[in-house]
Amino acid sequence: MRISGEQIWRNEQHKIKEICDLLRLEDEIIGAFTHCERDFGFTIQLERDNGLIEYLTGWRVKHVNPYDPGRKPFKGGFTRALNVGRDLCRAKASWMTWKCALIGPTQDERIPFGGAKGGLRCDPKKYSLREMRRQMQECAKALDPVIGPTMDSLGPDAGVGPEEIRAFISAYSELNMDKGIPCGAVATGKPLEDCGGGCPGRLLATGRGLHYVYEATTKLHPFFKNIPPKPRAIIQGFGNVGSSYALLAKSFGVTIIGASDVRGGVYNPKGIDIKSLYEYSRSTGSVVNFPEADNVTNDDFLHKPCDILVLAATEAVLTDSNADGVQASVILEGANGPTLPEAQHKLIHRGVFVIPHFLANAGGVTVSYFEWCQDMQGIFWSEKEINNRLKNYMVGGVHRVLEFAKQFNTDLYTAGYISALSHCAPALRKNRGWKKSIKSLF
Ligand code: NAD
Repeated sequence: MRISGEQIWRNEQHKIKEICDLLRLEDEIIGAFTHCERDFGFTIQLERDNGLIEYLTGWRVKHVNPYDPGRKPFKGGFTRALNVGRDLCRAKASWMTWKCALIGPTQDERIPFGGAKGGLRCDPKKYSLREMRRQMQECAKALDPVIGPTMDSLGPDAGVGPEEIRAFISAYSELNMDKGIPCGAVATGKPLEDCGGGCPGRLLATGRGLHYVYEATTKLHPFFKNIPPKPRAIIQGFGNVGSSYALLAKSFGVTIIGASDVRGGVYNPKGIDIKSLYEYSRSTGSVVNFPEADNVTNDDFLHKPCDILVLAATEAVLTDSNADGVQASVILEGANGPTLPEAQHKLIHRGVFVIPHFLANAGGVTVSYFEWCQDMQGIFWSEKEINNRLKNYMVGGVHRVLEFAKQFNTDLYTAGYISALSHCAPALRKNRGWKKSIKSLF
């Protein structure tokens, strides 16, 4: 049974409250963190290639901006998928707030964005290239009043890649070109060659970030003494996140032995040649029937033997009913919120090491932050420079989360929330002029 967006948002509110209580934060902070500042719903009218008109609904939700609203924007992905809805956007927007607050090379330097999320409810596979462009242009027009380079900057997400971002920015720029603002910074994940400049390394950034986080965690946490130094991984979801992780795996000493997509999975315990699988899946539309591996159903895939299970498909895939069969020692969450709370409890109780999504998959927003900085300042960095900065930001995030895990004797999920909330609470107080209660730990 698929869990609703409403339930996912309720779970998230419950977790935020639990952590706020643990940190003895004041009621006004609990109120701010368990609500979203803005919910913007819109409908676009799309003309299909055959002349028929279709109406599609979308949302843009802004959680909390604890920093300097008006100069530091909200930031978050924009999705095209059938499960897009207001409550799911709320949960994902709040994960973005925590993700940005967690990541950074030092105690004081973090990604200074409030969390946002949005999307258009549709099946992206149904549309031609021209229809997709019209869709994104209509979205830009509908969102124009609530977005902007210093207000809310969009990023790529499931169903939205460089081409979608290009179409979005071209419409936004037409509307705003006379206002003297750097229009290209209204969205990141742009193609390299236009729209004010995309960022080298952005396409592989989420996968690269997953590797940096795993590598840093293995160096610092005693759990990894028992994990082989050259682990074997299976990847659920072979889209942007899953394939970017896979394409870089060899250079990080990881062997991929399985991959799946919405149609099914493939598995070969001896290892899979990822370049061939990537080309095969791009030409056939799926990994299924890849000649050098055995087909597996999506249910069985999650239970295949491996060291690392990378969840890079979608939210809420590991539940109370399928968590018991997981054989991996480590779960690396590439997708947003792929493990439900009941599943997390079961896995952690069983000694499975779960690296939470808001830490693990933050590479995407980190490089989006670099891209935003470049567009705002007109300064551009090389791919090598971008990757070095990315590593510093991710490793800094891992260090702090592991320290909190030790200090509070808790799992990485809870430690991640502690790390993020302990940074956001003082920033929010400062911005709103609230006094710190003497009971509060941060
Ligand atoms: P995508 O659309 O490019 O790829 C998703 C992949 O998952 C596809 O291969 C699809 O077939 C597969 N899939 C979907 N449902 C599945 C299921 N139930 N079982 C097995 N496979 C399934 O999306 P993406 O950009 O790779 O994003 C994947 C996840 O990562 C999403 O949760 C997204 O929010 C999150 N994320 C994306 C980025 C980014 O930069 N793109 C950054 C951080 C987090």
